[in-house]
Order: sequence, then C-alpha cells, then structure tokens
Amino acid sequence: MCGIFGCILKEGDAAPIVHDALKRLEYRGYDSVGEATIHDNKLFIKKDQGKIEEVHALHNLDNLPGRIAIGHTRWATHGAPSMRNAHPHIDCNGQIAVVHNGIIENFSELKKDLEEHGHLFQSKTDSEVVPHLIEEKLKGGLTFLEALRETAKHLEGAFSLAVISVMEPNKIFCIRKESPLIVGIAKNATYCASDIPAIRPLTDKAVTIENGELVVLEDEGYKIWRIADWSRISRNPKIIPWSPEMAEKQGYPHFMLKEIHEQPPSLRNTLRLQEKYLDLMTAFLDRAKDVFLVACGTSYNACLAASYMFSKLALLATHPVIASEFIEQQGRAINIDSTILAVSQSGETADTLSAVEYARLRAATVLGLTNVIGSTLTRISRVYICQQSGPEIGVAATKTFTAQLSVLAQLAFRLAEKRGKVSHEEIEQLEEKLIQIPDIAEIVIQNQKKKIEQIAKKYYSKQCFFFLGRGISSATALEGRLKLLEIAYVPAIAFPAGESKHGPLSLVEKGFPVVFVCPKDENHKTSVGNIMELKARGASIIAIIEEGDEEIKNIADDYIEIVKGVPEVLSPIVYVIPLQFFAYYTVVHRGLDPDRPRNLAKSVTVK
Ligand code: GLU
Repeated sequence: MCGIFGCILKEGDAAPIVHDALKRLEYRGYDSVGEATIHDNKLFIKKDQGKIEEVHALHNLDNLPGRIAIGHTRWATHGAPSMRNAHPHIDCNGQIAVVHNGIIENFSELKKDLEEHGHLFQSKTDSEVVPHLIEEKLKGGLTFLEALRETAKHLEGAFSLAVISVMEPNKIFCIRKESPLIVGIAKNATYCASDIPAIRPLTDKAVTIENGELVVLEDEGYKIWRIADWSRISRNPKIIPWSPEMAEKQGYPHFMLKEIHEQPPSLRNTLRLQEKYLDLMTAFLDRAKDVFLVACGTSYNACLAASYMFSKLALLATHPVIASEFIEQQGRAINIDSTILAVSQSGETADTLSAVEYARLRAATVLGLTNVIGSTLTRISRVYICQQSGPEIGVAATKTFTAQLSVLAQLAFRLAEKRGKVSHEEIEQLEEKLIQIPDIAEIVIQNQKKKIEQIAKKYYSKQCFFFLGRGISSATALEGRLKLLEIAYVPAIAFPAGESKHGPLSLVEKGFPVVFVCPKDENHKTSVGNIMELKARGASIIAIIEEGDEEIKNIADDYIEIVKGVPEVLSPIVYVIPLQFFAYYTVVHRGLDPDRPRNLAKSVTVK
C-alpha cells in the first residue's frame, strides 16, 4: 500500500526532502502524489494524480515553503486516482492536513455522521474522514493532542497517519494501527515514514512505532503515547542494519520472498472490503443464467479454485475460462443473461480486457476483481472489487493470488447464503475460519519455510515435476506448477490426480518427483490411492498434508504439514504457500533471479 513521509527540519525547506523520500517509497504505490507544508501559520498543499515525476513536472513539488512537511504516494483503495482523491486531505477550514496509509473500515458511518454535522467532503476517499473528525473533536474544546487521541479511538481498520496543523505549527502528529510507521532521528531533522527506504539515506537511526501508538515529532525529537491508556512510552532509536537497496526489500534478498511473507497482512486487507460491493456482485452472480470466470495465468488458477467454491457452497455451476480462449470457446454463447467475472491483478491484462469487451458488446454483465483501482478493468466493469494487496513487484504472483482467493471465497459465502444453499451457521463458521486464515498463513510461513528450503535443495536439479491434487487442490497444484515453471524454468506438469492413469503415468520412473497437494478432505482416500500407484512406479512423493496425517507421512518421501482445521474450500489459500516457497528456493539453488524471469513481464498488456 501507499507510502507516507513527514519531516521537521531545524532549518531550510522540507518540501524537496519529502519529494525525494516519496520517490524512494514509490514502490509502495504510485497512482497519485501530494505534499503539504506549514509556513507563516498557513498550510500549503500540492497534489495530483500521476507518478511522482509527472506530478512534479506539472506542479514543482519542491516549491512549497516551510521546514515542516508531510507527503504521500497513493495506491488507491477508496476512490479512483484523481486530484481530489490524492492526499493530503484537509478539514473544512483548511487548517489540518492528513496523509493516510491503509483503510478506514468504518469511514461510511463516520462520513455520514460528519456530513450531518455540516462537514463538506471533497473526495471519495476513506481517509478524508480523519481531518474532519479532528476538526469536530476540536469544536468540543479539546487540545489538538486530545482531539487526535479521541479521533484515533473512533477509527477502525488499518492505518498509519501523519497530521500537521496551523494550530500546532511546529509539530507532526502520527498514529499507527497495523499499517507500518517508523520515526527517523538525525542531527538536524526528525522524520516519520511508512518504511525504512524513505529515511535510510537521511539517517541510520530509527524508532519503530507499534500498533495503537501516537507520536509527536518536534525539533527536539519525539514523544510516544499508548492511545488506549494514555501512558507515555519511552523507546530509544535503533541503528538500521540495512543498506538502502536491502531496505527497499525490507531485508529480503528478493521481492518475491518479501511478497510471500506479506501474505498475512495482504489477506487481512481482503477482510476489510466494502460490504456493499460484495453484496452487489453477489446479486449479479445470483441473477445470471451463466457465469464465466475469465482470467489468465495465476488469476485463472484462482478462478478455477473459485469454481469449486461456487459449486460446493452456492450450488452454482460456473465456467472458468482462459481469457485468450474465451471468445473462441464461449463467445457465441454469451448474451444478456451472462455474467462475466473477470479477474486481473493489474486490471490491464490484454486478453482479459478483450474477452470483457466482447462480452459487453453482447450485453453481458461484467464484474471485475483487480488489485489496481483506476485500471481499465475497473472502468469497464459494472461492479468491481479491489483486492487491496498493494503493489506486487515480483513477476511471479504470490500475495495477489491468495488475496484473490480470499475475495472469491467471500463472494461464494454470500452467494450460498443468498440462495439458501448453506445454513447460516455453516456460513458463520466458514467466515470465522476465513478470519483466522491470515494467522494460519503466518504459522505456515514461519514454521515450514526452513523445511521447504531443504526439500528444494534435495530436488532442485530434477528435470521435470508433476504437481497433483484432487478437487479444489487441483487448482492449488496448477498454481504450484506455474510458479516453478515460470521462474525456475523447470518443465512441470499439473493435472487432477485422477487423470494419471489416462496418460501421464507413463512418464513416471524411479526418482520422478511428484508434488501432491493432499489436505484431509473428501478426496483424501482416493489421493492416498493415487500416491500408492505413483510410489509403485518409483516416484518420489513430496506431499503437502494436514498436520498429523500419519497415513501419508508413512508413504511420502518428504512432506510439509499445514495447520489442522482449514476448510476444504479455503485450503488453496494456505496449501499454495509451501509451493510458492518451493519454487522460490528451487530458483535460488539454480542460481537464477526469481524476480525477473526471462521472457516474462509483470502485467501482460499484449495479446
Ligand atoms: N485508503 C486510502 C485511499 O484510498 C489510502 C490508500 C493507500 O494506502 O494508498 O486513498
């Protein structure tokens, strides 16, 4: 998600420093940019849609007076990229400026309430409620600091905020809940930022701000409070151990590894979607005669998994279709009763957009799931949902795949309930499980990473792999295979395990590696049978299993255990994680660069 930055200089103009720091944060989001400064008790603001250098060319971001400034580079979650929606946002009187990273979950209620109290909003963002709420609290006679504390107590969701005001012209106020925030300390300046890269060239001393804390930056340094009980926290700066280059990857050697580790927070973000859009999409899916799930690559694998979710929970048959084949395969069957749910991380995938354009011409309803608000897909969809994963830089999709699955699962839950196909209790249980999935993903990442690295070391030089599963796990297997194939250049074959005997089994000989995704679901017994057949022909089995599955542990050559109790329809979200690591470590052992596989680009905008 986006980047925020703030700076208090003892002397000189802060704007050029903010501008430079934002460039170092641009990898966190880059659809709009803005800065605010304070000078002579006045607030100065420049902001617009576009990349930093585009906006700078138009508005000269360095030409803002004052030694105190905040800045923002945006990755829209609420409201399309535009000048109005760009940060900083201000209160009605233009006395308070706020930059925000994250999502204010309860912004609709707050906005309604503030509007009833006469506040005028300029943007469609969730963030704008913050300056208005502070303004409202100040009306009650609170000090600025108290008003901020009270504001923080009303905000739900994930946020880091930096606030400046002419009422406190020598300070920057910051609040953190979940979204990252650090403070940097230098001899002649104090900084706040989303991430180390922003401050790394300016200082090597940083203080990490924890959840639920409020910080005040001043010339003399910083003061931290815990918001809940208003206790003062004393925390000394630590030396940042990373070089600027390492800092951008938060100490990870590659973006892909960083993004695999970002899955728990990215999954948490998918639990903060706006209900009204999920409901609207559910209504369109319910109304359709035929539903087509259209996508390419990893997004197609998510659609395939979703087709199992929709059929198992909502008893709705859907057609997952590879976008480049859509027109040939299904084109003439599309009509006004068809609904196309198009899934594209970038929202710009050329094949997906062609399929969607074609379907629109035939009067079908188009729904979009993407990671980029303002992308073409969001503009041409009847309803779209943004999965809120933040930018993904590694060419191999990882966190965006699991986030897509989480959104699609939420649609399947709603549709099942709407159609009365599953009891309310059952849906509640599934929803509760989905809430636990980010923590489960965290456990899998922390506990299994080392073991998968060793397994990859054992198998990295193999010439070919099978990736197998049954039911929804065949989609997980397909995704695991795509990861290995695209970044490690290892030919790999994936198919539903039941197909083995219809051809592929002839490839198996002694030592042939087979990755088998085998949760303890309805297919478990049959999967064990498939594993035995493969073993009988000399295959080496790497099984992804549920914790304590002794039956498979006894027959597999290697295994990775996943926390118990993940429902079948949610299993791909967690079971794919070891496969992402497997591909990553195979690449590393092969001495290749996982972030830049040959011949591939991140967003495929050609057909
Ligand atoms: N939710 C805010 C917006 O859409 C902030 C997004 C971000 O973190 O970039 O403007």
